[in-house]
Amino acid sequence: MKTLFEQSCPGRVGVIPRKPAKRASDMLPASLLRKEAPRLPELSELDVVRHFTGLSRLNYSVDGNFYPLGSCTMKYNAKFTEYAAALSGFSSLHPLMAQLCGAGRYTQGAFQVIWELEQQLCEITGMKAFTLQPMAGANGEFTGVMLIAAYHRDKGNKKTKIIIPDSAHGTNPASATLAGYDVVNIPSRDGIIDPEELEAVLDDEVAALMMCPNTLGLFENNLPRIVEKLRRVDALLYYDGANMNAIMGKMRVGDVGFDVVHLNLHKTFGTPHGGGGPGSGPVGVSERLVPFLPVSRVEKQQDGSFVLCYDKPKSIGYIAPFYGNFGVCLKAYAYILRLGGEGLRRASEYAVLNANYLHKKLAHTLDIPYERLCMHEFVASAPKGMRALDIAKAMLDRGVHAPTIYFPLIVSECLMFEPTETENRETLEGLVAMLEDIVKNGRENPQTLLDAPIHTPVRRLDETAAARQMILTEDMAK
Ligand SMILES: *Cc1c(COP(=O)(O)O)cnc(C)c1O
Repeated sequence: MKTLFEQSCPGRVGVIPRKPAKRASDMLPASLLRKEAPRLPELSELDVVRHFTGLSRLNYSVDGNFYPLGSCTMKYNAKFTEYAAALSGFSSLHPLMAQLCGAGRYTQGAFQVIWELEQQLCEITGMKAFTLQPMAGANGEFTGVMLIAAYHRDKGNKKTKIIIPDSAHGTNPASATLAGYDVVNIPSRDGIIDPEELEAVLDDEVAALMMCPNTLGLFENNLPRIVEKLRRVDALLYYDGANMNAIMGKMRVGDVGFDVVHLNLHKTFGTPHGGGGPGSGPVGVSERLVPFLPVSRVEKQQDGSFVLCYDKPKSIGYIAPFYGNFGVCLKAYAYILRLGGEGLRRASEYAVLNANYLHKKLAHTLDIPYERLCMHEFVASAPKGMRALDIAKAMLDRGVHAPTIYFPLIVSECLMFEPTETENRETLEGLVAMLEDIVKNGRENPQTLLDAPIHTPVRRLDETAAARQMILTEDMAK
């Protein structure tokens, strides 16, 4: 597809701006004026519309079709949340307004949203307090680990290690390492944490255990024993709550003894996920971590008004500029209010029901390494003699986004599906029929699998070259 600059034709016009009342040269010093006109592409309105509509069609999205990418919650997000985020009273608010004008008098509505959303997230998770600052899941994990470090430092504990099971999401060890800890990996047994393996590595230097609920989509059965073991060495318990749509309204991590949890508002709570953001990864903490939360905090005063509070001597400081991605928080606020407690519970029920339905239905077509009931997602393996990669490529040809492949690493030729709560039964059955067809074709004519995809804008890419010889800019001088 040609760029707008390549399509440009001298003299072609899309918009004719009104003559300004004053010329720039009357208002600006000569030194700031352009010497020559900017080199903008010259196009008609129709050229521009076709260009962007064409680009949007190259882009795969959940608004267009099914997106069963595991560990990612690529669910449909209802459009009313966009309306809430676009309300001009919020979207026109300057982030410095709170500090510079009227001491927060003009930002009470925004403060109220922040404060109430924190309360709602506390209610959903059973935690004592939340910060909305972190800008993504991984940023939330980093915040959480910094809070854990601050807690141990404050108590004079000498801690160097964080335990992470091999079934964890890849960002968990990355966040722990970034925050300065050594990561101790423990193997899972039948896909869940083995209390014996935990016992074997648990000593006084362990700062925390980071748990995912988990990437295999299995329920952890040994939580009470795990919590009890950690308490003995004053180690904290971290819950990766990126995929809350597995447990909302069913179980509260605060109630079973977790000290830190991060949520991904851009997965579970009403913001589309993908394309690099914006996201939001609020962090909830138990009582003992509250003093360390990032500043500023929005606090409610006796008269019901809200203030920004910086006076928190033990705080880890700022994690993100201002109050995080406020627009994403607004969408979560609207989503939670609209669904209510009952609606959130039903969202989880549908997410888990859909995953289990697909899991069972696919058992005739793919290999299923863990036969137990699953949470909101599950893993399967390519049938003997076939590769997960080839099956994924064949799905692209049939117009559906591929599942996550080769992750987690502990399952071979792994395909990880997450149907999410927003897909209906017909869509799930369509996927089952599609995979049956792909596997049947692959058996009868293996070359068709190796050739796929043939209908996509590009075929199989040289992924090494794509990573090593990146071309990220257009050469405009050409
Ligand atoms: C998506 C995800 C993350 C990371 O979230 P980002 O917003 O992409 O940084 C962490 N843990 C789990 C389980 C996830 O699914």
